[in-house]
Amino acid sequence: MDKTSLKTNANTLSEESVLNWQIIQKDFEKSFGTEVYSSWLKNILLVKEYNHYVILGVPTRFFRDWITSRYADKILSELKKHKLSINRIEFKIVGKEKLENGIISPDSNKNKIMEMKDSILNYNRLNNNLNFDNFVVGQSNKIAYLSAKKICTQLSIYNPLFIYGGVGLGKTHLMNAIGLELSSNNNVMFISAERFMYQFIKSIKKNEMVSFKDFFRRANVFIIDDIQFIRGKEGLQEEFFHTFNSLFDKSSQIVISSDRPPNKLDRVQDRIKSRLSGGLVVDIGLPDYDLKLNILRKKIEEFQKSFKEHPNLSDEVVDYLAKDTKSNIRELIGVFNRVVAFSKMSNRPLNINDCKIILKDVYNSIKIISIDKIQNVTSNFFSINLDEMLSQRRSRPLARPRQIAMYLAKKLTTRSLPEIGRKFANRDHTTVIHAVKTIDKLSKNDEQMRKNIEEIKSIILND
Ligand code: ADP
Ligand code: MG
Repeated sequence: MDKTSLKTNANTLSEESVLNWQIIQKDFEKSFGTEVYSSWLKNILLVKEYNHYVILGVPTRFFRDWITSRYADKILSELKKHKLSINRIEFKIVGKEKLENGIISPDSNKNKIMEMKDSILNYNRLNNNLNFDNFVVGQSNKIAYLSAKKICTQLSIYNPLFIYGGVGLGKTHLMNAIGLELSSNNNVMFISAERFMYQFIKSIKKNEMVSFKDFFRRANVFIIDDIQFIRGKEGLQEEFFHTFNSLFDKSSQIVISSDRPPNKLDRVQDRIKSRLSGGLVVDIGLPDYDLKLNILRKKIEEFQKSFKEHPNLSDEVVDYLAKDTKSNIRELIGVFNRVVAFSKMSNRPLNINDCKIILKDVYNSIKIISIDKIQNVTSNFFSINLDEMLSQRRSRPLARPRQIAMYLAKKLTTRSLPEIGRKFANRDHTTVIHAVKTIDKLSKNDEQMRKNIEEIKSIILND
């Protein structure tokens, strides 16, 4: 309905048109700020104006709920400035085209879906390298793997399928594999929760929520990665909930990954958590030695296939890598690549000691090193008492180790200088700076000092 028809009806209903929407919008922009205005208020139009209330048109239900919960009061008081008698606002959901033209143009929605499709596809292509064939199965991921395979042969047998586990354990790989397997015969949508949100916000801003909904609800296989991303994001949860329900109602297969089980998703609405756990919930655990070994073997095989040469890793080295990498598979593969690269560069097969040296940086960056640990190792190394090392005494046999420990605290942790100072019996940060400078200088000129530091470091890192 446009303003002309409002005027025509002006006398028959209790209407009294006073509001000039353009001017009001300008005021909105001033009082709400440009950002809120252009994301939200700009998209509101005046549909009908009565003496005591107005009907405002908004593009979507979500939009309406959002505005009602956040801005309705302020909108009302703004409107009152223009027309005091208004004491109520009603929001009506009407598509943007309708608001602008009075009709819905038949093609525009379709085009928007195409656009959205293009933009989503650019970010959410299925990766051909992450398939079921190269997913190595072990104790820790077997159930997740079998469930994933199962839904590919029998859609919606578990709905939703919820796969959770820590980082780098193969969740995305498995989700991608499901997508690949099903994509030839289905309309598969594979998206990370983060990307879903990006698309969602963009659609709100561009007033394309209708196409957004259409687009996502068309999928008959909907795979959403890293759902934990929605924690604490109310608007996103609202939209996700509706998307989930409409997909679920038409029996689309939904697959979800998360870094934790549904009941541990804090700051997520209970109704969503209950939906998420309503199908099959499976976890991927930490890989054991066998799985790591098999993954390394697979990687060697892949290497041989693509480079037509052997990566030159002895069984002993492979065994060491499988045993010694502690945390996750992504890291294991990173370590493998690094070792192979070094072996290629040095043109000789590596032994375990080489690996230790190569991998020191890797472990260094992933291990969290505490100042307490540095202090303990350092005082042990010099066979002095920890309390003495931290004391105010200035004799060199105590002062040097103290400075070395401060120096290592600076180099091996991310603590600030004042924090380090505090850990050393409340010393000032300038004392820490002085220690770092002194040891830096000494270790350049004094071979013994350099050796000691290396040794202490390696005890800290290898412990
Ligand atoms: P997550 O999504 O759980 O953080 P990813 O799926 O991204 O982990 O996996 C990290 C890396 O480890 C990827 O390169 C993936 O291909 C590989 N990976 C994980 N699990 C396996 C497995 N079982 N077999 C082969 N590669 C794996
Ligand atoms: Mg992932």
